[in-house]
Amino acid sequence: MKKVVLLGAGYANMALLKSLPSNVWNENEYEFLLISNTPLHYFSVLLHEVASGVCEEEITLPLNAILPKNVKFIQDKVIRIEQNLIQAENDTYEYNILVVGLGFQSDNFGIVGIKEYADSIVNYQGALALKQKIVNALRDYAVKGDVESFKIAVCGAGFTGIEFIGSFVDELVQIRKELNIHQEKIKITCIEAMPNILPMFNPKLSSSAKTYLEEKNITFELGCKILECEKDGIIVEKNGQKEKIDASLIIWTAGVKGNQVMEDSTFFTTQRSKVEINAYLQPINQANQELMQNVFVIGDCAALKDPLTQRFYPPTAQMAMQQGEFLAKLLVQKLQGKNFSEEFSYKPKGTICSIGSQYAIGYVGKMNIKGKSALWLKRAIEANWKFKLAGLKAFSKTF
Ligand SMILES: Cc1cc2nc3c(=O)[nH]c(=O)nc-3n(C[C@H](O)[C@H](O)[C@H](O)COP(=O)(O)OP(=O)(O)OC[C@H]3O[C@@H](n4cnc5c(N)ncnc54)[C@H](O)[C@@H]3O)c2cc1C
Repeated sequence: MKKVVLLGAGYANMALLKSLPSNVWNENEYEFLLISNTPLHYFSVLLHEVASGVCEEEITLPLNAILPKNVKFIQDKVIRIEQNLIQAENDTYEYNILVVGLGFQSDNFGIVGIKEYADSIVNYQGALALKQKIVNALRDYAVKGDVESFKIAVCGAGFTGIEFIGSFVDELVQIRKELNIHQEKIKITCIEAMPNILPMFNPKLSSSAKTYLEEKNITFELGCKILECEKDGIIVEKNGQKEKIDASLIIWTAGVKGNQVMEDSTFFTTQRSKVEINAYLQPINQANQELMQNVFVIGDCAALKDPLTQRFYPPTAQMAMQQGEFLAKLLVQKLQGKNFSEEFSYKPKGTICSIGSQYAIGYVGKMNIKGKSALWLKRAIEANWKFKLAGLKAFSKTF
């Protein structure tokens, strides 16, 4: 039997699987195999809440309960992709049609010390580990109290950095109470090279988010180019001067790229671990272009250009989901040996950045929104995705 192999169980591939028409399983010629390194689908857009301690299992769904029954799931870590073959930690897998949806990882842009001394928020296990590290460090500080204050530096004032800080300051109120640490003893600094935080939003909205966080004692070091990361701080250049910002704990959220597997696979030609794709979601500008007819790359591993601006779209769950839904149509045509009838076109619906449990900023279409209503809308979008994957049982505690 021929094999359609999907790599990764994130937004892109889950949207694809949930959008396939039921008659696709009657194509007896093909079996569907999903390979992912965890038995869970986790909501990457909420990883900051896991790292900050706000939630944990609530952002996961067990794959065995949500996958269509005709899809065979294999838990394995993909190491490399080759022609018609996947090399993984436990086994090798052949494919006839391949869909890569392996997501993202942190990009340190080669800055010395980030890999050694900073933590990032890129997957579920990593977010859980970071939460534990923060709690342990604070417990240690509560006992020893050997320095004037406990300093946390968050590098990057984009989506991940600001969403993490927002949910962490809320959670910190509880942690401080439990550990009996005075508010003034914990200093959180956000370091950013740009002059503003959240540059993807209207400046008035970004500025309201900054004020909201400053009122919660967050310090912003803007216009600071990060030069190096050390065990106990960050070396930055600000106004032409080199200075050090001390930190006991450093969290790197200043950049993401595609999955390292893409870079490690000589089968692909990559840039920042991403493969450039066309409007049929297939690799282009590849050294092995002739081998790409049966390969699709979607989500954060793919780089797609906006046909109007010729600039690459930013990687988002919204893009990953739209690509997955669209690929369901193409895949049916492919399995039936038909030509593709339609090209993918991205339809941005809006973006909302949550800043803790009480506030958010964003836009829907051309309308800017902020405050609790923006937060509720974001929660509704997340709930809708959960419902799409598992129906009402996704909201039951025993699931
Ligand atoms: C904190 C944070 C907040 C965000 N907020 C938003 C937001 O509000 N809106 C928005 O649109 N986007 C947001 N994003 C971006 C969004 O999460 C990503 O764009 C999206 O998850 C990409 O989907 P994907 O399917 O490509 O990858 P993912 O959803 O990350 O899935 C990747 C899958 O691949 C698996 N995998 C990875 N490596 C391997 C391997 N070697 N072998 C086997 N399996 C592997 C993983 O387990 C996972 O199942 C946010 C990101 C972060 C980190």
